[in-house]
Amino acid sequence: MARVLFINGGSEGHINPTIGVVQELISRGEEVVYFTYEDFRERIEKTGASVRTFDVQKFIKAFISGGRNSILERVNGLLLTADIMIPSVLEQIEGEHFDYIIHDSMFGCGYLLAQKLNLPSINSCTTFAQTKESFDKTLEQFFEKNPSEIVKPKYDEFQRLTVLVKEKYGVEIHSPYEVFCNPAPLTIVYTTRMFQPSNEEFDQTYKFVGPSISSRVTHENFDLTAIKGKRPIYISLGTVVNQAIDFYKLCFKAFGNTEHTVVMSIGTKTQIADLGEIPNNFIVKNYVPQTEVLKYTKLFITHGGMNSTFEGLYNGVPLIVIPQSADQPIIAEQVANNGAGVQLQMQSLTANQLREASVQVLNNPTFHKAVENIRGSFQELGGYHQAVDEIFKFKGQYDI
Ligand code: UDP
Repeated sequence: MARVLFINGGSEGHINPTIGVVQELISRGEEVVYFTYEDFRERIEKTGASVRTFDVQKFIKAFISGGRNSILERVNGLLLTADIMIPSVLEQIEGEHFDYIIHDSMFGCGYLLAQKLNLPSINSCTTFAQTKESFDKTLEQFFEKNPSEIVKPKYDEFQRLTVLVKEKYGVEIHSPYEVFCNPAPLTIVYTTRMFQPSNEEFDQTYKFVGPSISSRVTHENFDLTAIKGKRPIYISLGTVVNQAIDFYKLCFKAFGNTEHTVVMSIGTKTQIADLGEIPNNFIVKNYVPQTEVLKYTKLFITHGGMNSTFEGLYNGVPLIVIPQSADQPIIAEQVANNGAGVQLQMQSLTANQLREASVQVLNNPTFHKAVENIRGSFQELGGYHQAVDEIFKFKGQYDI
């Protein structure tokens, strides 16, 4: 049995794929201490892990204070979270021994903590993976496209923060990549090689294990019997960028009072009462047990978050992807390229367009065929089982 330190400062999409991994690690005898925020305590504790928390409000404040407009600002924001994460983790694990660390690929300062604690590290990547070369290319484009009076202060700030981190925690940062992507000798990516853009660039230290989907939520607030046998359309923009009243109303216009049953999850930041009259064929909630709902769904209208997309495909559901931000435009493109659905643009979207796209996807068997092929490719991979197989091979290399 080894003791595992799991660090995850990310939102729901960064947490969910790790749940099966932690459950599996524990069932194979590992002891896991998982750092996250209070909101996720219950779902992580259910895995058998011991949960420790940090102050999410301070964490988000620090991250945002770095700026949100460019990649370098987000790097600086992540560096600013070091003062929230590192002291909190060090204090709460004082005197304890760990054999290795697993950390999120973006949030929680996992790379810095791994160096500080001198632990073998594993990167848990819930988005597409990035090599140093591809990240540096993005950064170079930012440098080239913007005048130096914009770029220089941000780079100066990056350097100032790296000096501070070195002084306070004794950890050297060599590049923005280390802060943004938290590289490690093993990276678990919860997608398939086929979906990963520029997949030929990734060496054997990247393991594409496919979607890691495990049952995770209680269903007190959702009556699944209401949709059993109804084959609903399911609509969700995920848990982060989901304040979109106009879009939700547009969905009423597209599908209200039709033969379809529609389940719509609008997120916790929008009030259901603000949507006005809800058509009788709609079930609208702030949050639904998505992986359960998808088992009955015939069409998923999604923002193209990595988790949502794979949860849909895993359940054999074709997609309409309406990307909002982050890596979602790339995911939307991958879905369309693989024939598993179509993509639409939020800015110009009309109810008619949405309805027509739904007719196209529901009635054309090629979409279903493509989805079945992808589903098959997922089944060949092992998701969290494979992730833990890889983690155990890694342990072998480090004599753990
Ligand atoms: N989710 C859920 N119920 C909801 C909305 C979302 O369970 O009503 C879950 C969904 O199953 C997925 C995660 O929240 O695992 C959203 O992650 P994703 O990467 O798709 O998008 P993000 O929220 O990060 O934009």
